[in-house]
Amino acid sequence: MKKLSTRIISALAIMCLAAIITGPAWGKDLKVDIIVVGAGAAGFSAALTAAEGGASVALFEKMPVPGGTTNFAEGLFAAESSLQKKRLSGPTRDEAFKHAMHFNHWRANPDLVRTFINKSADTVDWLINQGVEFEEGTPIPIWPGGPVTWHIVKGHGHGLVEVLAKNASENENITIYYRTPVKELISDSKGKIVGVVAEDKSGKTIKAEAGAVILATAGFANNKEWMKKYTGQGDNVVPVGQVQKMGDGIRMAVEVGAQTLNMGTLQYLGVVGVGIDVFSPITATLWQPENIWVNAFGKRFCDEAAVIWEWSFSGNIINQQKDGITYVIYDDAAVKIFMEKGITQGIGVIVPPGSKLPDLDSVIEEAVSKGIIKTASSVEELAGKINVDAEKFSATIEKYNGFCAKNQDDSYVKEKRYLRPLTGPKYYAIPVKPAFIGTLGGIKINSKTEVINTEWETIPGLYAAGTCTGGYEGETYDLGTTGGTFGYSLTTGRIAAEYALKYIRK
Ligand SMILES: Cc1cc2nc3c(=O)[nH]c(=O)nc-3n(C[C@H](O)[C@H](O)[C@H](O)COP(=O)(O)OP(=O)(O)OC[C@H]3O[C@@H](n4cnc5c(N)ncnc54)[C@H](O)[C@@H]3O)c2cc1C
Repeated sequence: MKKLSTRIISALAIMCLAAIITGPAWGKDLKVDIIVVGAGAAGFSAALTAAEGGASVALFEKMPVPGGTTNFAEGLFAAESSLQKKRLSGPTRDEAFKHAMHFNHWRANPDLVRTFINKSADTVDWLINQGVEFEEGTPIPIWPGGPVTWHIVKGHGHGLVEVLAKNASENENITIYYRTPVKELISDSKGKIVGVVAEDKSGKTIKAEAGAVILATAGFANNKEWMKKYTGQGDNVVPVGQVQKMGDGIRMAVEVGAQTLNMGTLQYLGVVGVGIDVFSPITATLWQPENIWVNAFGKRFCDEAAVIWEWSFSGNIINQQKDGITYVIYDDAAVKIFMEKGITQGIGVIVPPGSKLPDLDSVIEEAVSKGIIKTASSVEELAGKINVDAEKFSATIEKYNGFCAKNQDDSYVKEKRYLRPLTGPKYYAIPVKPAFIGTLGGIKINSKTEVINTEWETIPGLYAAGTCTGGYEGETYDLGTTGGTFGYSLTTGRIAAEYALKYIRK
């Protein structure tokens, strides 16, 4: 896991340097055919597609580096892709669509989901033409026997960003402006969007005119006020891979009359330890289906295997507990297994199942010495250390061990193969919180990515793509459409540019 952080940091450092060297100074107001706001998956695919169609493009990015959250992604969804056909596996587009709508209880926008899924295979070929490479043997399922839709990119998300950023910076139709946040949209007297107001590197306010604007600014994971207002969550959930996601694009669209959809939907990513570095091997131990989870009352409250295999469910159940308090409990026997035999459940493709965690004992020891992990040589003693009722906590462990002995979880029907008793001699309790990798609600768009206003009309000249839009997911992130949000962002970016090109040529 350390390797991952080093890789991402060095990729970001190289891109940062490139941006600082090549980023143009923006001394005066601009006029282009299409403005794209945000240089992530959606923004790059929009800018490149618009440029391929002959448009002049200004791509504005508020950060000094490209890629946003896309730098952290691993693989993208596609159904019936050329790579999938080679593997003779994977759901058809129809199957994927039926699954997605059923999972989302039809709270997603069916026409948008259908359009994305139908075009997803074409996006894989488009990326290959851009020079993006995919890992050998891809696509893969996210869990054994799962749908084969996850197209893992070589170098993962930051590998894709490197290729697309290079192509965009070498394309004479595109100019990328880093460290240039867009602040507001400009409309004409008829309500058409005709440009943006932004702040250049020196802090100067500049106007840019365009025939159409595409918002690709992602969500609002770092906006505490909006998180509370729209999702009801605060410091009890931990954003991962998010920097400065303040909901700028959503705000700007709403200011010109846009509707929003499914603003409360979070993209949960399992759990992280409170006070524990996300790249620590301890994080992987928290994702194991054999662990048990207890709440503030010392009570077990879910099938831990079900909510950690399908890790987008973890936040849904943890947030039902008093103050969200949750401890992951395991013992010495488990630590030995993690170190010597390896883990059962991986974390994405970065920490595969079966990975051994050889340094785990010393890392745990350090966390114990800092008071982050609590340990004790009896269940009762551990209860005291985590402030839960000792009698209830002991009863919880005894009951669970009873389920393990008879190979049947009468409470939550955890799969038999994950029933491992807690026997000590040492027990560990690690406080955890749900992690999330983004917000999934946002600007309401139609299947052409045109922005819909409160009168249910499209706002002329305004398009939105990627995770600043709502309508791809219902109330929970669907892991069965594996690679969904990365794929959705890339494909909707392309769709936005295609329709923006048609619009400016009318
Ligand atoms: C650890 C991790 C692993 C993941 N793995 C996967 C995976 O395997 N598969 C999958 O489907 N998804 C995955 N995801 C989610 C996926 O990365 C995102 O859903 C996707 O990349 C979002 O793309 P985007 O273009 O919408 O947003 P981003 O890539 O975040 O791009 C938005 C850009 O807009 C910029 N911006 C914001 N406001 C402004 C403004 N006012 N002016 C100018 N620029 C602005 C931001 O700085 C950012 O660069 C993962 C996420 C994380 C964190």
